[in-house]
Amino acid sequence: MRCTYCVPKEGFNSLPHEDILSYEEILRVVTLASEVGVNKFRITGGEPLVRRGVIDLTSKINAIDGVETTFTTNGLLLEDMAEELKSAGVRRLNISLDSLNPKRFADITRIDKLDKVLRGIEKAHSLGFTPLKLNIVIMKGVNDDEIEEFVNLTKNRNYHVRFIEFMPMKANGWDRSKFIAADEVETMVEKLFNILPDSSDPKGSPSRNYTIDGHLGKIGFISPVSRHFCDSCNRIRLTSDGHIRSCLLRKGEIDMRPALRGGAGDDEVRELIREAVLLKPSGHEMDNVNLDSHDTHRSMTQIGG
Ligand code: SAM
Repeated sequence: MRCTYCVPKEGFNSLPHEDILSYEEILRVVTLASEVGVNKFRITGGEPLVRRGVIDLTSKINAIDGVETTFTTNGLLLEDMAEELKSAGVRRLNISLDSLNPKRFADITRIDKLDKVLRGIEKAHSLGFTPLKLNIVIMKGVNDDEIEEFVNLTKNRNYHVRFIEFMPMKANGWDRSKFIAADEVETMVEKLFNILPDSSDPKGSPSRNYTIDGHLGKIGFISPVSRHFCDSCNRIRLTSDGHIRSCLLRKGEIDMRPALRGGAGDDEVRELIREAVLLKPSGHEMDNVNLDSHDTHRSMTQIGG
């Protein structure tokens, strides 16, 4: 997929093979990160399910003591791979689903495969993945007329439907006219459904969650732009080209490749991971004033969302 809000039509240049981390290198960073306190690893992308060998990597990560993995996927290969993911020890999934209308889905993702994605979600549900989160980037004039339909997905299924604010990222065609603040979406939902704050919200969750009267699932609002949750953010990201990035929306990375490829010992690599955590800023700088000129220096596909 090349979602219009994420990837330019022509795509991005591919990186030469030697620039991306090998699975051995990823596994080493993950293992050492787990030793300094990281216990949840989300595998994302780009599209993680298209990288050959990803299931094997996932099994190895899940074999590390005290560690769990989750995936963020566009769902296109889920129908075929959900069972393998389950066997590799994955229990939680996030799936992007920006429209329930086939034509619109094709316009947004530039691929006419809504039916396949829905079958993938159904398959994952039948295999018992939980939570099963459905991510919707909500855009004015694009998919904001589907809010009720999205909430209704939670009626008979224990899905967690999450509305995400459209963020300005490098080369993603963002413009203010398409932006809707999470509070506005919440107000629309409140007019249609009886919602209650979800008291089981985990600490550090980016999403403000609600249960809905008479529904099995729940909904959430993610507001990186209008209402930062930086003070509770505990995430760091490892890019495919080997940089640990401390904040989604702010410059500040440590290139792990010189150490990984230059014979650094485990203590040295662990120290670099600690340094990357300490680089974490108190908050990102994307506010209402500089939204239009905000520069993330990397595209979302390079960071992973
Ligand atoms: N290929 C996978 C997928 O489609 O979910 C993983 C990568 S994708 C970059 C991860 C998440 O970032 C998706 O849920 C996507 O909707 C979200 N995302 C991408 N660009 C975004 C933007 N500009 N604003 C908000 N969310 C965005």
